[in-house]
Amino acid sequence: MSQPRAGLLIVISGPSGVGKDTVLRRLFELAPQLKYSVSYTTRPPRPGEVDGQSYSFISEPEFLRLIEQKEFLEWARVYDHYYGTSRRRVEDALNRGDDIVLKIDVHGATFVRKRKPDGLFIFITPPSTEELLNRLTGRNTESPEALALRQKEALIELGLAKDYVHVVCNRDVEETAREILAMIAAEHARRQTPV
Ligand code: 5GP
Repeated sequence: MSQPRAGLLIVISGPSGVGKDTVLRRLFELAPQLKYSVSYTTRPPRPGEVDGQSYSFISEPEFLRLIEQKEFLEWARVYDHYYGTSRRRVEDALNRGDDIVLKIDVHGATFVRKRKPDGLFIFITPPSTEELLNRLTGRNTESPEALALRQKEALIELGLAKDYVHVVCNRDVEETAREILAMIAAEHARRQTPV
């Protein structure tokens, strides 16, 4: 009898403003069987964000308690707020044989790489730095101070693309989502190939 297919941990990073959310939305439309790792955050919800779907929105004391309880596979402070990946949610999905997607920052990805080196780590880049900065300015969801911080961080994050084996340039959402799907399929095929 053949072994049940093992779930794949898929980590997607990229600078703020690169279009990760839009690409992921399309990815989940194309591949509804993929699970999404809903992170915890202390950031307030943006308009349209749903608790338990976009994030689990919690207070800072609650977040600190979860750190103590070792609930996080990784956590980071990004742009003045805490963000963390639930170890339990990820383990449950992988144990069921599901593929699970984490959308986390580069620092969080570095932690996950140490703990789960067999994951698929993908970095999304913008067509150009100029376009990235324009997209961040156009988003209009932040105060000028928060925007300046995001722009600075985005440039630092962009420099960390070199740590990733898989890099995809987001010129077109559809193409990018399909490229990521192809990477996932290739990774499963690689794992099933006898060595
Ligand atoms: P946003 O506030 O725009 O939703 O996310 C800000 C940044 O936090 C993004 O770069 C996003 O990838 C990152 N992020 C979201 N969830 C997590 C998480 O659980 N862990 C880490 N390390 N970063 C996260």
